Amino acid sequence: MIYIGCHLSVTDGYEAMGKTMCRFGGNTFAWFTRNPRGGKTRPVDPADVEALKTLLQRENFGPLVAHGSYTMNLCSANEATRLNGLDMLTQDLQRMELLPGNLYNFHPGSHTGQGTEAGIRQIAEALNAVLTPDTGTTVLLETMAGKGSEVGGSFEELREVIDRVEYR
Ligand SMILES: [Zn+2]
Repeated sequence: MIYIGCHLSVTDGYEAMGKTMCRFGGNTFAWFTRNPRGGKTRPVDPADVEALKTLLQRENFGPLVAHGSYTMNLCSANEATRLNGLDMLTQDLQRMELLPGNLYNFHPGSHTGQGTEAGIRQIAEALNAVLTPDTGTTVLLETMAGKGSEVGGSFEELREVIDRVEYR
């Protein structure tokens, strides 16, 4: 089975994304869990999510991909930024539990001068603080271009994060 889709806006809600993708002829889609640049999120209507679930099953959709905010940085040298990132990750994964069995993708982060090793450790710590054996979502680390102090510019760096995550 091949799953094809594109990125959609969540502005009109969850079921609306499913309907749009049906109209486009696809069978999966990606969306931002929150404003990608501002990090703000809107409340979710559980009935809307249930309506999407029904549609996904009826139309044989493949796994969906949620994308975290660009402003989420789990390995910033600034502690407030780091804790804010952990908050976003926690809330995003809680929200994903309304749609279990899907994928959550995020940019691992930028170490902002702490060094790659510290960045890798902090990203893994954040994931270990949030992931449990019951987490119904598969978390994906997105490969980065490696510009600035980005972590995840090589498969080796991503491997090092994954190796330190308990529930991988
Ligand atoms: Zn991305």
